[in-house]
Amino acid sequence: MSSLDEILNKIDEAKNIVILTHENPDGDAIGTSLALYMALKNLNKDVDLIIPKYSRVFNCLPGIENIKQEGKNEEYDLAISVDCAAINQLNGWANYFENAKYRIVIDHHSSNAMFGDLNYVDMSSPACSQVMYVLFKYYNWEITCDIGTCLMGGIITDTGGFQYSGVSKETFEIASNLLMQGVNISKLYKQLLSTYTKTSFELKKIAIDRLEFLENGKIAYTYITKKDEKKVNAEIGDYEGLVNEGRNIEGVEVSIFLHETDKGFKVSLRSNEYVNVSDVCLMFGGGGHIRAAGVTMQGTPKQIKDKLVKEIKRQL
Ligand code: AMP
Ligand code: MN
Ligand code: MN
Repeated sequence: MSSLDEILNKIDEAKNIVILTHENPDGDAIGTSLALYMALKNLNKDVDLIIPKYSRVFNCLPGIENIKQEGKNEEYDLAISVDCAAINQLNGWANYFENAKYRIVIDHHSSNAMFGDLNYVDMSSPACSQVMYVLFKYYNWEITCDIGTCLMGGIITDTGGFQYSGVSKETFEIASNLLMQGVNISKLYKQLLSTYTKTSFELKKIAIDRLEFLENGKIAYTYITKKDEKKVNAEIGDYEGLVNEGRNIEGVEVSIFLHETDKGFKVSLRSNEYVNVSDVCLMFGGGGHIRAAGVTMQGTPKQIKDKLVKEIKRQL
């Protein structure tokens, strides 16, 4: 793994920097990239943070107005990818990464393809925002209340509110430090985790109604199509979190959730105790973490379900 000093040297040398993250960005992707954006601005860098589409749930995060949909036409001196496991996950804006003079990857996915010139990937970290916090401390960059709010937003969303197994004593130490910095964790929790849009509630009803149990109740499976989304007038990100409905049912080890996109069905897998879903997704060209992973697949929901179940069964 590259050292934090090497990374800082490259940041120091660069004049203009582009920050990128994964498609369908979650709170960790947005929170980490906003915090980095603010830090680089404080260093007087010319920075573009490019995220074409994201859920309006994140509009509560400070600095969100700085996000651009498109970048410059010229080459950037430096591109930094955060919370992204593979270059194809940068989707339509991977070109900004590929065309930059130098590339850095900062992440926490166990399946990270190490696609940068420098890669700082801490797989033991439950959120990329936690990795970013470590960078801030190491570099002695000031963590303002706004920066802390973004980092905390990333941590609480990727840990499901401190509940997932990757949460460590460091996570709580960081939360405690950020609280002292004035970050309002309970407000963030309400905004990012416990409030959902009315249309996402409508989608949830459809997904729950359709949920099936397979393999003696060890697998829960459901899906959402474009037609469903049209029916309820769904917005970007409304399907986010639906995969947890299946995972939280007693006896379920793996929850499968499919969501139809222009490129096929986006598969989300979650496991509870022993199935490595990152390995299952890697089999089909995706990846992620041991307990949370994803991939895009072609076919009907039934065909995709059968392929996934066959692979998951090896580990049940
Ligand atoms: P999701 O189900 O989309 O919330 O994804 C779960 C985790 O797996 C997230 O950390 C994603 O970044 C990661 N992930 C999702 N899809 C892919 C993919 N195609 N390749 C690599 N990682 C992925
Ligand atoms: Mn993410
Ligand atoms: Mn993450």
